[in-house]
Amino acid sequence: MDCASVREQLEAYIDGDLDDALATTLTGHLRRCGGCAEEHRAAIALPAHLAALRGPVGPDLVASVMSRVRAGRLAGQVSAALLTLEAILACLALVQLGVDGLFAAAAASLQDGASLFGGSAAGPAPGDLALVLTLLALVTVTAIHLGLVGATTSRRDTA
Ligand SMILES: [Zn+2]
Repeated sequence: MDCASVREQLEAYIDGDLDDALATTLTGHLRRCGGCAEEHRAAIALPAHLAALRGPVGPDLVASVMSRVRAGRLAGQVSAALLTLEAILACLALVQLGVDGLFAAAAASLQDGASLFGGSAAGPAPGDLALVLTLLALVTVTAIHLGLVGATTSRRDTA
């Protein structure tokens, strides 16, 4: 058996998953081959090192690390998207406030003009409803965002 095959089988060998004949062949190779023996020692020592580093390590270590990385990255992406949405909504609100201000000014001047003829023409500015909806959306998105940040933080705390 050559070194490449030995190293391919090393994990199964350590786990005791190989049949006896193959395991005997590997044992023989490990006695003769310093390189593979070193690889074998490192592979056996690695879980112990990891366990010493932090708590018990399951066989799904990589999976759990990857899922944590992925969850963190996803939360980051969602967080960034929500932040963008908040910025857009805030800009919309500002623009509408500006438009609203213009409408108010226009309404005021109309009222001034109308009052010359004894009428009172000004109703609620048309921008009001849109502004209220925008602010509502902004508050909702911000609430979701804060909830997400809170959930992410507490998840990290418990992990
Ligand atoms: Zn070898």
